Amino acid sequence: MINVISKKRYILHLLILMLALALISAGCNELLNQDVAEPDEEAEEPLNEEIPEPVSEPTVPEEGPEPENSDEPSDEPVPHTPDNNDSEEPSLPVISDGDYLLALVTKETTLKSDYVPSDLRTVPEYLSPAYSMQLRADALEQLELLWNAAAYDGVMLKIRSAYRSYNTQKGLFQDYANRYGEEEANRFSARAGQSEHQLGTTVDFGGTSVDLKAAFADTLQGQWLKENAHYFGFAMSYPAGKEHITGYIFEPWHYRYIGIEAAAEWKASGETLREYLETKSQHYD
Ligand SMILES: [Zn+2]
Repeated sequence: MINVISKKRYILHLLILMLALALISAGCNELLNQDVAEPDEEAEEPLNEEIPEPVSEPTVPEEGPEPENSDEPSDEPVPHTPDNNDSEEPSLPVISDGDYLLALVTKETTLKSDYVPSDLRTVPEYLSPAYSMQLRADALEQLELLWNAAAYDGVMLKIRSAYRSYNTQKGLFQDYANRYGEEEANRFSARAGQSEHQLGTTVDFGGTSVDLKAAFADTLQGQWLKENAHYFGFAMSYPAGKEHITGYIFEPWHYRYIGIEAAAEWKASGETLREYLETKSQHYD
């Protein structure tokens, strides 16, 4: 009898505790909770920056964005100016020429707000773009070869994102910041001027049920790309376990065209794309 009573008491306490946790959790993440897609803890990709359109994927950064203080100091180093205001144009080194295939695009540099790649072309329908999108001529030519080579191997790819303008990126980042908090958004989405997608040489691949998620790495598509993309001049920008170097979570679907020779050199180096590009000359205004 005693055991039964204490067991009931124990269960009652447990229920109260769970209820309290649920309330706290709901209070913190009111918005997010409903779209948490995956149960797995850390991996839960915040579906990265990638979906410009109101695509229906409710991917959410798994752990709710902590209620960051609104005064949050931006974590980016502001090299030149003393003014720390979070203005549109942070005073970061401005990349002189975005058309330069080896331009280093990171959270510590910025492309000009009016930089638009010189030779954008429309991605043809047969590549299965998720919507009408563009890519620079050379990158597109190699993308077509890559896509066909993959298809020949029985691997069907789709294109989830390609060129994104400064303003598109700006809206995208703001949207994520509103939903997840600026700090969390900064881990998987680039601010305007800091996205490789503005270069017109970067592609987000898909074609699986786990597009834009870390699990994409384990799909036929993800594996094929990892092994072959460099033959067509594409490099995976944000590999696993390198967030401390790249500044971004693992994005096995995000590839940037840097030219076939450079991609071969990058692959052989074993370095992250960022480290590799840091060995190349860079030009700032
Ligand atoms: Zn991307």
